[in-house]
Amino acid sequence: MKKLPADELLIGAHTSAQGGAHNAIIEGHEIGATTVQLFTSNQKRWEGKPISDEDASQFKDAVLSTGLTKIMSHDSYLINLGSPNPESLAKSRKAFKEELLRCQKLDLAFLNFHPGAALESTEEECLEKIAESLEHLEDLADKGNTRLLIESTAGQGSSVGWKFEHLGFLIDRLHKKIPIGVCIDTCHIFAAGYDIRTKKAWDETLAEFDRIVGLKHLCAFHVNDSMKPFASRKDRHAPLGEGEIGIECFKVMMTHPQLREIPKYLETPDGPPLWKKEIALLREFAT
Ligand SMILES: [Zn+2]
Ligand SMILES: [Zn+2]
Repeated sequence: MKKLPADELLIGAHTSAQGGAHNAIIEGHEIGATTVQLFTSNQKRWEGKPISDEDASQFKDAVLSTGLTKIMSHDSYLINLGSPNPESLAKSRKAFKEELLRCQKLDLAFLNFHPGAALESTEEECLEKIAESLEHLEDLADKGNTRLLIESTAGQGSSVGWKFEHLGFLIDRLHKKIPIGVCIDTCHIFAAGYDIRTKKAWDETLAEFDRIVGLKHLCAFHVNDSMKPFASRKDRHAPLGEGEIGIECFKVMMTHPQLREIPKYLETPDGPPLWKKEIALLREFAT
């Protein structure tokens, strides 16, 4: 297979959709991104405004004129698809369905979501609830082009999705029913105890992922260094090369044949000026 040139690799960041989703595309284009992640509504509120026809056409115009592809949405932080509390579970399922409807209206490639938190239930009970929550979307998910991506987590608090076994359970259960995949967050897997600091460590972690989940289900990366140490189960992002993971990890990512062409989204702190530098740096590694 021919290798894609570095400037065609899909690399972007979580840009701001303030004032409309199209603004996230424009901001991405300005910092040299070839894809972006965005929120389709206020991530700290339950109520999301539906996307109007006008918003959708403005968004699609921005996508066409900038050439960005594989746009990803990140779901609201309030949603817990594995909640043991019936009321909050119902609220979460409703809000998540609305997330998917907004993504479909904008024709986004991916809806990335945090799988859920067990709270006072067990991880197994939580994973079962999450699977049921997603099964409810079977008919709707078929209607659009948006793939749901389970985000790997750091395992902070009672959140599930930090072990590859959790991701594997959900993929096995759902991949024949709905379009689904995994987004690996480099900060999160490192904090969860999967080493990626060197080529050798990456190869071992990828082999484990392949065995338990299946590499064909790996659709995207959140690219972040980690302020917290290996296996700390704490989620704090750092600029690339300034955390506990170190820059070698990201060099390997950009040259590794199994990783180089997977879409990547930065969620490092400090915003557009840093992202512009990091996108350029990642492309340089890939050259
Ligand atoms: Zn992430
Ligand atoms: Zn995080």
